[in-house]
Amino acid sequence: MLLARYPTDNWWPSRSRFEVMVGAVLVQNTRWVNVHRAIAALRARRLLQPEALAATPVDHVGEVIRPAGCQSVKAARLAHLAAGVAQAGGLRRLARHSTHDLRALLRSWHGVGEETADAILLYGFGRPVFIADKYARRWLARMGLFDAGSGAGAYARCRRHVETNLPWSPGEFQALHAAIVLHGQQHCGPQARCQDCCVGDFCSFINNSL
Ligand code: SF4
Repeated sequence: MLLARYPTDNWWPSRSRFEVMVGAVLVQNTRWVNVHRAIAALRARRLLQPEALAATPVDHVGEVIRPAGCQSVKAARLAHLAAGVAQAGGLRRLARHSTHDLRALLRSWHGVGEETADAILLYGFGRPVFIADKYARRWLARMGLFDAGSGAGAYARCRRHVETNLPWSPGEFQALHAAIVLHGQQHCGPQARCQDCCVGDFCSFINNSL
């Protein structure tokens, strides 16, 4: 029902696997409109390849990605990302890792948290991964489908629960992530706006409040 309600095509437009990885770092704590501007600036300077990015001074990268905000932090993270790809033997060799091993490798890189790693796995490497971000955990809990609780471990608990119960394809997980984010932005945010919610008939939160 959620998938039928929201347009989820082209949710993460990108021209390459590395562009997805860069975008996953740039989108931390900012909006996509800012990320698109930073990506365009990197592309204009031919910096959307790991080798070119790794060879560029971090200060300069920071200036280029300024539209995405927190440019010093993100430029340092992009430098680690590019170095990590090189140390792993390149993108093709990275793609040969199992999802479990690739997640562990990505998580070992500076600035790559659980959500960033899973976004890279899902959209960059086409792995069947559920992004258990704040939108997803809130929505699942309110629906009465799964309450992962809070604190350390909540993300992983939620991701594992959904992946165990939904043996979906990468494309389906991509669409589900997009639909959940859109639903969170339009209805199921910190303050729930339940009127006209497309899944209200099945939601514990609203039915328990009536
Ligand atoms: S009915 Fe309200 S709480 Fe339930 S999913 Fe919809 S917006 Fe969220």
